Order: sequence, then structure tokens, then C-alpha cells
Amino acid sequence: MQMKKIIFTDLDGTLLDPGDYSYEKAKNALELLKKKEIPLIFCTSKTRAEIEFWRKKIGNNDPFISENGGGIFVPKDYFSFKIQSVKEYNNYFLIKLGINYSQLIDFINFLKEKYNIRSFSDMSSKEIAVDANLELTQAELAKKREFDLPFKILNKKQEKNILNEIDKHGLNYTIGGRYYHLLGDNNKGEAVKILSDLFRRKYGDIKTIAIGDSENDFQMLDSVNEGFLVKKKNGSYASNKYKKAKGVGPEGWNKIVQQEVL
Ligand SMILES: [Mg+2]
Repeated sequence: MQMKKIIFTDLDGTLLDPGDYSYEKAKNALELLKKKEIPLIFCTSKTRAEIEFWRKKIGNNDPFISENGGGIFVPKDYFSFKIQSVKEYNNYFLIKLGINYSQLIDFINFLKEKYNIRSFSDMSSKEIAVDANLELTQAELAKKREFDLPFKILNKKQEKNILNEIDKHGLNYTIGGRYYHLLGDNNKGEAVKILSDLFRRKYGDIKTIAIGDSENDFQMLDSVNEGFLVKKKNGSYASNKYKKAKGVGPEGWNKIVQQEVL
């Protein structure tokens, strides 16, 4: 029997187009995954509220990873065995890897006393909508943060000092397609490893595949059997270290998924 495959994917700029968030070009591959009953795990900087929107729209019922590995959400009826160190959270079991959002806000406010920073905590939904080219309702969901605080560095000359301060205070940052992200000890890779172990308990040997587009995906790509980068909007790749999908965002995604699961 063929080994069960599990696909982890970033959303923004990967499954969703870097410009208009469309996944039209990935539709064939998405259908193929449903037909073959291959789990598709969204692993993104997005919030739980945003992911729930996309799961519904795309028709996905698998577990997901929110806010750069801050939370792993597993639908309660998904695995037949008991999962360790979880909390119940609405219809999910939550494995919480991120720190509390209020700690991130306190720290970003401390940074703002010295540096020129603008973060999601002081941007209105309207400002986020314009800045990230999101619909207003989507921007409202993007503000419902639990584990990760997106921010912009307005004075590029301060970048090095800001990132050093984050390090020095025992927090972490990662860089997504549009924003820097302030976070605790979590990253996409750790969350992917934990969820992969749960899938191994369910299926035995599995083959894990991941697809991303940016630096905040590297640890996810390092944590699976096969990691791929899609092209960015400008035609470049975030790194030469990983296998390349030939196409921007969902176009590259469609090719890789079909190639890997057919
Ligand atoms: Mg991305």
C-alpha cells in the first residue's frame, strides 16, 4: 500500500495568490486531494478566525496551525485517540505553543517608545484592509490575534536594533510576505512536527510535504520529508535552499501538489 501523504501549506502568497488572495489556480489540485482523502493542513500567520473562513470556503475539515505555530487546532472528532497537553477550545482540542498575546502587546509598546513601529495592535481594521489589500471583514478577522503580533518597521535603519532588542528580551520574530511578526517560542516547524506525530499515530508511516513562499515557512519546510517554495509575486524565490515550484503562489502550488500526490 502507498504511504499516507500529509500536506502542510502556508496560505498567504502560497495557496492564496500574493496579490488578490484567490486560489482559483489551485482548484484542480485541491479537488485531487479531496478525492484521494489526503489531509491538507493550513499552517499560516493567519488567525484562527481567518483560517476558519478559508476552511469553510475551501471545504477543509482537517486540523490547522494558526499564527506561525502559536496554536494547533484539532477538530474534536478527528483523531480516535486521546491527545496530550490540550485544552478544549470550542469544537477543537488546542495545543498551545505560543505565549499570551497581551505579553506581545506590552513588549511592542515598550519598543515603540524608542523606535518607529506600527503594529496590528494600533492599526484599525480599515487600515489593515488597505495595507494588506484585504476586504474589511477579513481585516477584522485578522485582528483577532491570539499568539502573534504583525508589525511594520517604518524606519528601515532601525531594523537591526529592533530585531536585536527582540532577541535580547527572549522573544522571537519571523518575517512573512508582508509583515514582521513578534512571537514567543513558537514557529511553524515545531507545530508541524507535533501534528505529524499525531498523524503517525493514526496512519503509521507517513510522507510529509510542505509548501511555502517566505522566510517564516523555512522551519516548516525543514520539518517535513519534502519542502517546496513557490515563486513570489516578483518571480523570485525566498531561498535557494529548497525545492522550487515553478509558478507564483497557487499556480506553483497546483503543480507541486499534483506532482506529489498523483
Ligand atoms: Mg506566505
